[in-house]
Amino acid sequence: MLYHLSYWSLQALTHAFTAPPAENSRSPNGVTLHVSTPSTTHYDNPAHGERFAVIQPERIQILRDQPVSAGRYVLYWMQQAQRAACNHALEFAISEANSRSLPVVVTFGLTDDYPEANLRHYAFMLQGLADTAQALRQRGIQFVLRRGSPDQVAVSLSREAALLVADAGYLRIQRQWRQSVAQQATCPVLQVESDVIVPVAVVSHKEEFAARTIRPKIHQSLVRFLTPLSETRPTQSSLGMSFDGLDATRPDAILRDLRIDRSVAAVTDYTGGHAAARRLLDRFLTNDLQGYATRRNEPGLNAVSHMSPYLHFGQISPLEIALAVRAAGPSPDADAYLEELIVRRELSMNFVTYNESYDRFECLPQWAIETLHHHAGDKRPYVYSRRELEEAATHDPYWNAAQLEMVYTGKMHNYMRMYWGKKILEWTASPEEAFYTALELNNKYELDGRDANSFAGVAWCFGKHDRPWTRRPIFGTVRYMNDAGLQRKFDMRAYVRRVEALAQRGVE
Ligand SMILES: Cc1cc2nc3c(=O)[nH]c(=O)nc-3n(C[C@H](O)[C@H](O)[C@H](O)COP(=O)(O)OP(=O)(O)OC[C@H]3O[C@@H](n4cnc5c(N)ncnc54)[C@H](O)[C@@H]3O)c2cc1C
Repeated sequence: MLYHLSYWSLQALTHAFTAPPAENSRSPNGVTLHVSTPSTTHYDNPAHGERFAVIQPERIQILRDQPVSAGRYVLYWMQQAQRAACNHALEFAISEANSRSLPVVVTFGLTDDYPEANLRHYAFMLQGLADTAQALRQRGIQFVLRRGSPDQVAVSLSREAALLVADAGYLRIQRQWRQSVAQQATCPVLQVESDVIVPVAVVSHKEEFAARTIRPKIHQSLVRFLTPLSETRPTQSSLGMSFDGLDATRPDAILRDLRIDRSVAAVTDYTGGHAAARRLLDRFLTNDLQGYATRRNEPGLNAVSHMSPYLHFGQISPLEIALAVRAAGPSPDADAYLEELIVRRELSMNFVTYNESYDRFECLPQWAIETLHHHAGDKRPYVYSRRELEEAATHDPYWNAAQLEMVYTGKMHNYMRMYWGKKILEWTASPEEAFYTALELNNKYELDGRDANSFAGVAWCFGKHDRPWTRRPIFGTVRYMNDAGLQRKFDMRAYVRRVEALAQRGVE
């Protein structure tokens, strides 16, 4: 059972970090939201603002309500937000520990059994955890990395904790782990939401139809939640405490021991961790933010931020990214970027939170299911097996390039993901088979796979968060895409050349 804390009960419990609610459109930290047209929002910030470090009480939920125990430390069970920087759950744990003159211990449970995870994902995640362990050490905080189911690792360390702080995760397994910790921990358990700008339940209590329905709800809360988070210095170090665990600074050694699917190679194009994420973000701000609104869709350019793998593993906070983009100054490019990072991404969080079937064909809207079934018997121009698709053995050079880009780099260009998914629907024997094939391939090869965005992105190809379009064979009224559209809009030869260069390099 989840309890939402009221402002006042939270004050009593946590000596909260709250700022008073915004008046009109101006918040206490000086962020102002101007809505210039019904669909355009400028995210700007007057120079005098940003004085308050804020953990809004709506980010916090009590998962296990009992008196604070007489423990040796405050435990932060890190699971989704795998970073030391801009992490509301970590800062909350530090502040709680300081108020009790206790140290903070951070733990992470490393399971071999995460659904659909393979060597590629584990390698990237462990690189990130090495980075996080070092950053925590510099702040006097011990990182305890243990093999085991994450919930059980957290429960075992809760036995000596005064309080357990968890971060929030939205997928089914993440919610189950938190429920299990809430049931079995021996101290109070609080959850702090740090991987979205606006907490999911603040935005909406139901599944939203589309970006157009969730956008105004998110925008009206930005003034309150798009606010900086400052770091609190721990008053007690936990570095001298003794715990069993793995040496997080040796990711390769840990990786060798894991009993995991090793069929997909680690990537060389992206290195895990906050430091690598920040380097890519800075490069994006310097080179590609200007022009993002028009250039992001051009597959040959790849002029995007590449933040999705880092966001997926919680190695960088969406808040850190959004504040950095906003600090670059108001522009249509910044607006376009923040629309993707906040509205589109948080629509996916809404989807997996409120649609229990988010990973099944039944998650689609009724109109889409009906129209796809109605056209299920239509003759397909090509029918490919899952293996042929996986091996990029179709007649279509653009589709093959997209598949190979994903296999080689762990990240397919956004525009090509749409085309890729639509063509799987067109070239597979049934819409259900197409749906599961797209999801499996996406989650197997994309570094950012198995994310709320993965489920929403694949479902979008089959009509989710979209509306009916003109009727066509196979698709019915689900939106259609074709290669002529790609050729008309983009320099597709440049894209194919870019991927051919990757193919020559091969997969290490
Ligand atoms: C079939 C299909 C599958 C997809 N699978 C995934 C996936 O497995 N994991 C994943 O993170 N995204 C997925 N997406 C969404 C999108 O393609 C990626 O988020 C984007 O390509 C990531 O690259 P980037 O970080 O360089 O994007 P940028 O253009 O730099 O965007 C910045 C951030 O905004 C968010 N964003 C951008 N586009 C979208 C979008 N369409 N929907 C939701 N959020 C968005 C992401 O968090 C992204 O990191 C999928 C889309 C489709 C159509």
